[in-house]
Amino acid sequence: MTLWFIRGIRRGVVTTRYPARPDESARFLPTPPAFRPRALTRQVADQLAGACPSGALTRDGSTLLFDVGRCTACGRCAAEAPSAVTGSGEFELAATARSALIKKIPLRGEAR
Ligand code: SF4
Repeated sequence: MTLWFIRGIRRGVVTTRYPARPDESARFLPTPPAFRPRALTRQVADQLAGACPSGALTRDGSTLLFDVGRCTACGRCAAEAPSAVTGSGEFELAATARSALIKKIPLRGEAR
């Protein structure tokens, strides 16, 4: 900590270069999930919805609804069904419309 403080004073830079350049530490950040549609069944979707503490995941018939705006990137869904869920690696999720944050993922064998 002290080293960074002294370095910042010497260089006059006290923050990272983000967003002009990607921040090195970003790869260690937890990110919202990405889903493998082939592994998503109604049963798995219900399991994921049940494991999600923020209500970001719900099932609507043959569709898994993922509200990215409610996701806290806790990782419980990935722990619940690792074959169906992986990390997205994406944390820049700003949107101009709330509706753009709600993803509709068709469940396996139920795509229209
Ligand atoms: S990472 Fe956590 S909050 Fe986000 S969808 Fe999965 S269980 Fe829900």
